Order: sequence, then C-alpha cells, then structure tokens
Amino acid sequence: MNDINLRQAIIAAARAMNAQGLNQGTSGNLSARTDDGLLITPSGVSYEDLRPGDIVAMGLDGTADGAMPPSSEWRFHRDILAARPEAGAVLHAHSPFATTLACLRRDIPAFHYMIAVAGGRDIRCAPYATFGTQALADGALQALEGRGACLLANHGMIAIAETVPAALALAVEVETLAEQYWRALQVGEPVLLDDAEMDRVVEKFKTYGQREDDPDG
Ligand code: 13P
Ligand code: ZN
Repeated sequence: MNDINLRQAIIAAARAMNAQGLNQGTSGNLSARTDDGLLITPSGVSYEDLRPGDIVAMGLDGTADGAMPPSSEWRFHRDILAARPEAGAVLHAHSPFATTLACLRRDIPAFHYMIAVAGGRDIRCAPYATFGTQALADGALQALEGRGACLLANHGMIAIAETVPAALALAVEVETLAEQYWRALQVGEPVLLDDAEMDRVVEKFKTYGQREDDPDG
C-alpha cells in the first residue's frame, strides 16, 4: 500500500474506533509499518480533524518526521513493530470493558473459545506503567508474547495484526470478549475451557474462514 493510502487507512480506522465505541476523545492511537519505519497518529489530535499530512512518519530508531509530535505511545508502537515481523499495524484503545478488566489487573482467561482469536489460551494484562514510558512498552511487549492482543493495567488495550483494518477488527473482538467476561463475572464464576481444548481452537483458527486455496473453507 502506498504512503497516502496507508495514511488514509489509519485515519479511517481511528475514526471507526471512536464511532464503534472503542474510544472517545483523543484517547488511543494507531500505527502501521512502512518500508523504513512506521506511520503513527499525532499526539492529542481529534480523529475527526486528522488529515493525511498530520500522520507522523517515524524511523524505528524513534526519529520523527512530521509537523506534529507523534503519539506519546510511539515507544510501544515502535517496539512492537520491531519485535513482531508479522505485525503490520498496532492499535491502542481505552475501550470501556477491556479497560474495566485492566483496572482490576485481570488477565482474560479461556472463559470462551473466541479468546483464541488473540492467538493463545488467554489475553494477558501487562503491569501498570506511566503512559508513554519505556517501562510501559517493555511490559506490553512481554504481555503480547505469542499473542495479538493484551490489556494494559489501569489504562486500556493493544491489538496488533497484519493490516490496519485487521487490527481494528481484532480490537472489536477483544472488547466484545471483555464485555462478555465482565457480564459473566456479575452472575458467578465462569467455567473455563482447559488448555487442551484451547490448543485445539488455536490450531483451528489458523485455517478458519475464507482461504484462497480452499473455497469451501
Ligand atoms: P496520544 O494522544 O499521545 O496518542 O495519547 C493517547 C493515549 O492513549 C496515551 O496512552
Ligand atoms: Zn492510552
């Protein structure tokens, strides 16, 4: 995807994030991999006001090239894209239910088979660290090991995927799971799926959906 299309995809996803209730105001941020670094939303700018030229180009060394300063969370965006070659996009949101669980500092366990959509048996919660710090980036990277999503204690969530729309779709799934888990906790203690079942589901997810080589799925 060329630079202008990628900038537009970031803006479209940032606006969709707010429209779908994943975020409000200027909370959250989005980035996408480029040939020589990343493109990232500027810090503290309303997504409605964003224009393609406002998206900030950064090198993986943290140097920024833009009229506005990059998102305060550029460190975790940069570190994730550097450490996870399969990831093309990183989305961060303060979505209500994921953030509720993150404030309880709870991992989301295998209460539903869809937990596997994030790549494993659970969705971990990274330890608390001040926003924008290297400590937050380090904790997030660790919580994301073998996963496409994590919670950030007393803060929010991160979803990573190959493309910007896929990161948005994963964030919506994670928020839905967080809401379902929260609802189940109101009534009792959810019954968890065991590791063997979750390993089966993780395996099945690798071939789930429409594939070019297998039109019958
Ligand atoms: P930015 O506006 O700097 O991206 O910060 C929002 C945020 O969510 C910080 O964690
Ligand atoms: Zn945040």
